[in-house]
Amino acid sequence: MFSYRHAFHAGNHADVLKHTTLLAILRHMALKDTAFTVFDTHAGAGLYRLDGDYASTSGEAGQGYLRLIEKLADITPTPALQDYLDMVASFNTTGSHKVYPGSPFIIQRLLRDRDKLKLFEIHPTDTKTLEANIAQLDVGRQVAVLREDGFEGIKKFLPPPSRRALVLCDPSYEIKTDYSRVADMVADALTRFVTGTYAVWYPIIPRPEAHQLPRRLKTLANQAGKPWLNATFTVKSSKLLTDDAGDVVRPGLPASGMFVINPPHTLKASLQQTLPLMVALLKQDANAAFSVESGG
Ligand code: SAM
Repeated sequence: MFSYRHAFHAGNHADVLKHTTLLAILRHMALKDTAFTVFDTHAGAGLYRLDGDYASTSGEAGQGYLRLIEKLADITPTPALQDYLDMVASFNTTGSHKVYPGSPFIIQRLLRDRDKLKLFEIHPTDTKTLEANIAQLDVGRQVAVLREDGFEGIKKFLPPPSRRALVLCDPSYEIKTDYSRVADMVADALTRFVTGTYAVWYPIIPRPEAHQLPRRLKTLANQAGKPWLNATFTVKSSKLLTDDAGDVVRPGLPASGMFVINPPHTLKASLQQTLPLMVALLKQDANAAFSVESGG
């Protein structure tokens, strides 16, 4: 049932969008002294090898983080992109790009002593790896790994005592019901904690559920009377191609989006500045594009 392993995808163009946005949100949250809690409903294994078997098999980082590194030699990154690059670099010795940090480790780096992180992961192997990776940080109860369904598990924590929180929701969408479960989780969470920041990553692929998800999130934010931001990043066409033998070739993930409810007021300008550069650096064909829409 759970065949998705993020190790195949770590550092791909979707991670570049997601982790750059995540960092920009957290940097802003950390400007205020008051403690916050971060919930990562779909945490993954936490750390990935870019030179390991999984990553080498898929080669996805080669069209994402590793391609950025190659191309950036001649280009000045925007502050948000530089922040992301510095973050990944801090997990590697100078000049090497072997380790890629997943969301748990990116978030953990930005926590102050008073902040908390709760990580949900349901895959048995990834949970074990995540627990072992987090244990090495020796941060005690500040970071908790919960082997639970993140959609359900989050409910008992909202609203958090800190009354300031970010919920990152990053499912694999390998099960069709993930789309409706994301929307149901956000709908429920907004009734418990309407001032929280909710960041949802979603794939942009030719299936109705994927198209409906950002629309449903927009409706939920509008109904709650809260601001929202929707950023999309396309690297190539989603059209199916045929190879020389006439067989259909799946194009791989062409695009993805980040939908944020209660975004920091600085996020829109930051992404509007950074996404054109990401498009220029990571485009795979003439369909590459971005959009940043906001409302509320
Ligand atoms: N957020 C991670 C990052 O940015 O580094 C990547 C997460 S990956 C896209 C999705 C993860 O969710 C997988 O590791 C998968 O095993 C896990 N997962 C799937 N269904 C879940 C559920 N209902 N609750 C918690 N985790 C789940």
